[in-house]
Amino acid sequence: MESNILKRLREWFKKNAATLPWRPADLDAPRDPYAVWISETMLQQTQVATVRDYFVKWMKRFPDIETLAKANEEEVFRYWQGLGYYSRARNILKTAKIVCESCSQAHIARCEMPRTRKELEALPGIGAYTAGAILSLAYHQKEAILDGNLVRIFARFYALDFLPTDKASAGKNETGKNESCAEAYWKYARKVADTPKAYMHNEALMELGRTVCKSKNPECANCPLNGGCRALAEGRTGEFPPKRKSAQREWRGTALVVESADGKLLAVSAGQPFLAGQATLPHFEHSRNATAGIPAEAEAYFNADNIASIRECGSFRHGITVHKIECKVLHVKLTTKAGKKIDPRFNATWVKKEAAAKKFANSFSLKAIKLAFR
Ligand code: SF4
Repeated sequence: MESNILKRLREWFKKNAATLPWRPADLDAPRDPYAVWISETMLQQTQVATVRDYFVKWMKRFPDIETLAKANEEEVFRYWQGLGYYSRARNILKTAKIVCESCSQAHIARCEMPRTRKELEALPGIGAYTAGAILSLAYHQKEAILDGNLVRIFARFYALDFLPTDKASAGKNETGKNESCAEAYWKYARKVADTPKAYMHNEALMELGRTVCKSKNPECANCPLNGGCRALAEGRTGEFPPKRKSAQREWRGTALVVESADGKLLAVSAGQPFLAGQATLPHFEHSRNATAGIPAEAEAYFNADNIASIRECGSFRHGITVHKIECKVLHVKLTTKAGKKIDPRFNATWVKKEAAAKKFANSFSLKAIKLAFR
């Protein structure tokens, strides 16, 4: 972004910055890193309007990291109650304890959050975004921030027809190397971070995304970036960021109906791609064409010397969460009775064929069994 556009952004922010309990009146003042960390963590998946009151109550009870580190999980959860995603609260407490412990070992009198991205990102619950927010807003370091608001603004401003989560390459970078989509977005974020008063540009962009460059109906007439925005110039603001591609994933694999000589079927409840904790048929993703002979992955479940017969039984389609499954079925009849020791990773048991419908309580296994014994 050009310096004249960033100047307009700063002017806009000074006039329009909302009054928030975690934002001091002086927008140039370095912020309390502890307050930045708590507010940014609360704001993940929660609206500003909801977070305000929670933040005020939290800071009254836990005004600094040392007070927080001495609290117990039960009390911390009480102050978090209603914000949801309790893993955030659990991680906050863990991090407070880790930081205070290392400060006390280093004989640092006043405990504070670390000052490097590496140290911050090593702490529970602190990812690239929160680390960037602490370093930029509190320590005024030239560090990048990339949250959903900035992604939306960059996508529109630069007319980017991909998302940071897209797997394909975003194209060649300046050195001629392929650049991932995430890297392309971070590159724009770093350009903002590499400006004087980057802390204000970062915060202003977050605010702009929240209040002006909204997902629906961006208010381009009031936007300080409208002089350089490509999506606006091309009349295509509705096209950026591109819609998230279907999260559905293809999965092709094999399910094994392993039958012992005394008519029992092998059930496993661990070490499988799907249905952890449930009795299911052993299954694995194809790493090679499984139609010829026994797939190598199958050998974990039986000894090749004990096979009476192997029969291909066809395939079925199935859906589990985001996975679109196409699964081949192999019926493997053994020469030995049930009871052979199977690798403990799979938590294996043997189920009488007559009891299969009851024991395999998932349609993935039942479809495979039906194909094997039709
Ligand atoms: S001009 Fe419109 S689309 Fe472009 S950044 Fe501003 S609000 Fe968003």
